[in-house]
Amino acid sequence: MDIYLTNSLTRTKEKFVPFDFAQGKPIEVGMYTCGMTVYDYAHIGHGRKYVTDDILKRVLTAGDYKVKHVQNVTDVGHLVSDADEGEDKLEKGATKQGKTVWEVAEFFTKNFYESMDKLNIIRPDVICKATDHIKEQIDLVQKLMDKGFAYDTPEAVYFDISKFPKYGEAFGQKLEDKKIAVRSDVQTGEHKRNPADFALWFKRIGRFENHTMHWDSPWGDGFPGWHIECSAMSMEYLGDQFDIHTGGEDHISIHHPNEIAQSEAATGKHPFVKYWLHTAFLMVDGKKMSKSLENFYTVEDVEKKGFDPLALRYLYLGAHYRDPLNFTWDSLQAAQSALVKIKNQISNFKNTDRTILSAEKSEKVDKFRNEFLEAVNDDLNTPKALAVLWEMLKSNVPSGDKYDLAMGFDEILGLKLSEIPKSKQQIPDNIQILIDEREKMRKEGKFEEADKLRDQIKIAGFDVSDKSLK
Ligand SMILES: [Zn+2]
Repeated sequence: MDIYLTNSLTRTKEKFVPFDFAQGKPIEVGMYTCGMTVYDYAHIGHGRKYVTDDILKRVLTAGDYKVKHVQNVTDVGHLVSDADEGEDKLEKGATKQGKTVWEVAEFFTKNFYESMDKLNIIRPDVICKATDHIKEQIDLVQKLMDKGFAYDTPEAVYFDISKFPKYGEAFGQKLEDKKIAVRSDVQTGEHKRNPADFALWFKRIGRFENHTMHWDSPWGDGFPGWHIECSAMSMEYLGDQFDIHTGGEDHISIHHPNEIAQSEAATGKHPFVKYWLHTAFLMVDGKKMSKSLENFYTVEDVEKKGFDPLALRYLYLGAHYRDPLNFTWDSLQAAQSALVKIKNQISNFKNTDRTILSAEKSEKVDKFRNEFLEAVNDDLNTPKALAVLWEMLKSNVPSGDKYDLAMGFDEILGLKLSEIPKSKQQIPDNIQILIDEREKMRKEGKFEEADKLRDQIKIAGFDVSDKSLK
């Protein structure tokens, strides 16, 4: 079955045809994902982005592709603004926490992958740190210098966008929109020829005089800019041209056009990447997530409130990755109830004998399988895929076959549907309140109220059994 993906380059849904379309052997798909800048905790917005990549990888694998997934870890050079302004995020984080930059990077890298594990995200095949690939980055900058796409100044080596006329066209943007308004209160490169030129190598002078992480280079002591690491490392592991590059929608304006410009200028090959996929933002209570608004939540925060991180994954899958998603604690509650309900049903099916299917029923099994695959292959339409799962569970397909179908679906959904809900652990606080309240009503002889509460609990996906009151 063909896979269709919305390519941000063309802004249309296209049939996925990888570069390597050799017949008769597994086709290896190269996939690169911009990873974390490891100076702070991963939040539930990151979770959404990386769950999208995980679904994409699982869909490709189910489509018989062999995926080589590479993800970077940004541990140097990412400034507070993506457009070369402000301090290095890592150095700032280290100062704030009274630790070394290396300690900060190690701590948050570990935290990031542990959080992603909780969301059942399959780890990338290659995890590469920017600081482990300084040589590759210097070599790439040198190549750009040799070809006349970069220039040296007293404060930095810059990419010269005027030498790459296609710059700015990527993702349907206008160059004019990209020119940053140079404010007097921000520190930016004074020797930039064009405000949209971007740093490839920062020198350890001026505002970066005391930068802790620094290396020797042909242009003096310093450190690489953020954008160059993704070009250097993706090409190192996947070649000059590869199939898929993913990231958050915040990368469309600066980071990804810069990656394209650097890579294509260096290799002379077009396109650098065939398909670009971008995940939309996660909002919290209708607002952009930020620490100052106190609506910044991590996967651990979700767990501390008694939720299963996979309920969060279910919540993500309920929206298409290109649509904005608004997180609320109520919506997470609803997601958890739905997931528990599904798992409860499936655990009852597990040991059911497989019925010998009638022609009509086997047709139904095939229909559900096809509908599910059609949904996920159609630009990762997970809301539709979940709807197929629910419809299948409600259908008259024999329960043993429902179990098998659900397990097949779960290879892509990644919700661990075969897990039997651990009753106590999976009862969320607000359900427990209802259970306690019902118990109280029963003791007081208010059986009508108690029954109403039982119905409410049942709707949320839980069954309560009565103990004797004596
Ligand atoms: Zn990147």
